[in-house]
Amino acid sequence: MEAEKTYCLYCHKLLKGRSDKRYCNDECRNAFFNEKKKEEHSVMRDVELRLKKNRRILRDVLGEYHTKTTTEKLLLQKGFDFKYHTHHFTTRNADEYVFCFDYGYLAKEHGKIIVVKEIKNEE
Ligand SMILES: [Zn+2]
Repeated sequence: MEAEKTYCLYCHKLLKGRSDKRYCNDECRNAFFNEKKKEEHSVMRDVELRLKKNRRILRDVLGEYHTKTTTEKLLLQKGFDFKYHTHHFTTRNADEYVFCFDYGYLAKEHGKIIVVKEIKNEE
């Protein structure tokens, strides 16, 4: 029975010799891992950029205030992406704030949004 053909994971050339080989040589293996790492970095960078943009929008909306009421519509117009956030924070009265780093918001009824900067549970 003819052995199954295997191809280099990086350059896709037909591999000769041992059937457990996955790359032509070290160069192809290194190049393959470098590319994979680059892809992973670019995925993380994209998420980071969205998070930073969200934070910037919240910061700009809040200005010098401690809290400010705005609308979901206005945040969306500014390019806010509600899919991306860093963490949640639930207050003692069960309000669940969503944070992008140190800036957060609380979604209220009728598309109202309360923007805050890092809050703490009052002791
Ligand atoms: Zn190769």
